[in-house]
Amino acid sequence: MSVSLNQVKQDMASLSLSAASLRLDDLLTEAQVRELTYQEFLYQLLRHEVSSREARQLEKQLKWAAFPEYKTLEQFDLAEQRSLSKRQLNQLKELHWLEQAYNLILLGPPGVGKTHLAVGLGVEAIRQGYKVRFTQMDELIHVLKTQEITRSARTKLNRLTRSDLVIIDDLMFMAIDRREANLFFQLTNKLYGQTPVIITSNKGPEDWGEILGDPAITTAILDRLIHKSEVISLTGDSYRLKHRKTIFGN
Ligand code: ADP
Ligand code: MG
Repeated sequence: MSVSLNQVKQDMASLSLSAASLRLDDLLTEAQVRELTYQEFLYQLLRHEVSSREARQLEKQLKWAAFPEYKTLEQFDLAEQRSLSKRQLNQLKELHWLEQAYNLILLGPPGVGKTHLAVGLGVEAIRQGYKVRFTQMDELIHVLKTQEITRSARTKLNRLTRSDLVIIDDLMFMAIDRREANLFFQLTNKLYGQTPVIITSNKGPEDWGEILGDPAITTAILDRLIHKSEVISLTGDSYRLKHRKTIFGN
């Protein structure tokens, strides 16, 4: 049977094996040079398709997550953050808390690695197949307020509620008014019990009331966020300050 490479490629195209099809010539040459068995060649070809799909999927999920920066747990230096042990970090990395719908509340002054840790856990969750969405608190409030008016706000909100993990960064960084607190309450109510949330804040929950204004809404929000949660307090000096670049050198 004489089969042209083009026919093979056409069939691969109709099966949507585009990555494998693109590499077909190279892999065939390689198989000849290295004298691979049929089985080894077929495995290599399919492996290539599978790994490029996985890479594409990862990229798509990272885009969906909208992280401000790509940070991993591997880059998180525990020697710089004494309040978290290796065992605790590994436990967090295993994501049982996510499976069991626990919220994580990461507290601490600016620069101690709260956002890094939250993004790192988000990246880990994506690697393990979860859908993650990151938002800054001020952006979230803006989105909640404009959801009736703009399609882009609705899209963002929709992505948030369709995720398996939501990260809200810098909660209570700025004071919010009663209407905003109400909208935020409705969201926490929606996420409560089904979508785990990671919250970072430089203020502890005991101070949230003061910034949220309305004590009744604050209590209701706190109830939902804290009911099933792990609070992690990061301490120490700002990593940014310690590792800052200087003009004069030290
Ligand atoms: P926060 O959110 O607490 O203000 P960030 O997570 O933004 O702090 O950290 C500030 C910078 O310092 C980031 O670039 C982050 O990657 C880095 N950083 C903080 N803590 C660590 C750490 N333990 N290991 C490595 N980098 C860190
Ligand atoms: Mg931060």
